[in-house]
Amino acid sequence: MSHAILVDLTLCVGCGACTTACQQVHNFPEKENPTLDDKNFTTIRTVTENESGDEYYVRKMCRHCEEPACASACLVGALTKTKDGAVTWDTNKCIGCRYCMLACPFDIPKYEWSSMSPKVRKCTMCYQERHLTADMELDDAGYVLDASGERVVIEGREITAEDRDTIIELTTNMDDNRASACSVACPMEATVFGERDQLLAEAKRRILESPDDYVPRIYGQKEVGGTSVFYLSNVSFESLGFYTNLENSSYPDKTWRVLEKIPDIVVTAGVALGAVYWITNRREDVKRYEEEIKSKRSKKKA
Ligand code: SF4
Ligand code: SF4
Ligand code: SF4
Repeated sequence: MSHAILVDLTLCVGCGACTTACQQVHNFPEKENPTLDDKNFTTIRTVTENESGDEYYVRKMCRHCEEPACASACLVGALTKTKDGAVTWDTNKCIGCRYCMLACPFDIPKYEWSSMSPKVRKCTMCYQERHLTADMELDDAGYVLDASGERVVIEGREITAEDRDTIIELTTNMDDNRASACSVACPMEATVFGERDQLLAEAKRRILESPDDYVPRIYGQKEVGGTSVFYLSNVSFESLGFYTNLENSSYPDKTWRVLEKIPDIVVTAGVALGAVYWITNRREDVKRYEEEIKSKRSKKKA
């Protein structure tokens, strides 16, 4: 079954419960009004619409494209469109080349700039989290094991029984179904998780039944060949800052046409940027160390 998320911007009140739930389910530090980065997979932006001057809240997250350009650009197959609908990535495979960042038409994947071994991160539609179950085996130390007997690792964290229970709670909705943490947390049902065809039908129903409340467009139905995150709005998507000039055909083919002309430049730039990062940090470490020594010496003198 292919899943999707429906974001109805007409219902969103900008409370940020979705961003907080996303941080909690991944054990990321909680930040108010975060920007999209390697530790925040979704954001809420306040947009003032030009004509009316009204304010709108716009959620940003990975669109889980039906034919993801990020996956087709990845040299090592770290990104995968699953049958579940989620586009997931394998942190063990990712080499941090950033081809996916270049390829994504929605500017979603972000780089772990603060890591010495940086990878690319993005929303996974809570794929691993939704598949954790209370009956999974534990090892003697209390860590959850997968079907092959390996410890389950999510966002670099080995999952304990306690973590598992928290994650299950955060990804179980009122109907007792597993869902993305952001949709479970949304108090307005502005973010809803479900089966893709049913959510698309629901989006069409809302527009047909209340034509005065919506613009007649489901953003994500056709863009880049269709995505698994749909948006509804009562003002034009253009006025809310959505990319509205995207083609309806999928992007993987175009991605390769662009990337095949520049791989050496990108790889070289990636390595160079990594080196600059390392040197910069090393310099800062040395500077800090020197200052500590100086301070200790002056204290001794005193
Ligand atoms: S939105 Fe970008 S990162 Fe997400 S699946 Fe599509 S191409 Fe990949
Ligand atoms: S689907 Fe999961 S990972 Fe993606 S934004 Fe929602 S809570 Fe975060
Ligand atoms: S939790 Fe729901 S209402 Fe609150 S900001 Fe997120 S989408 Fe909007």
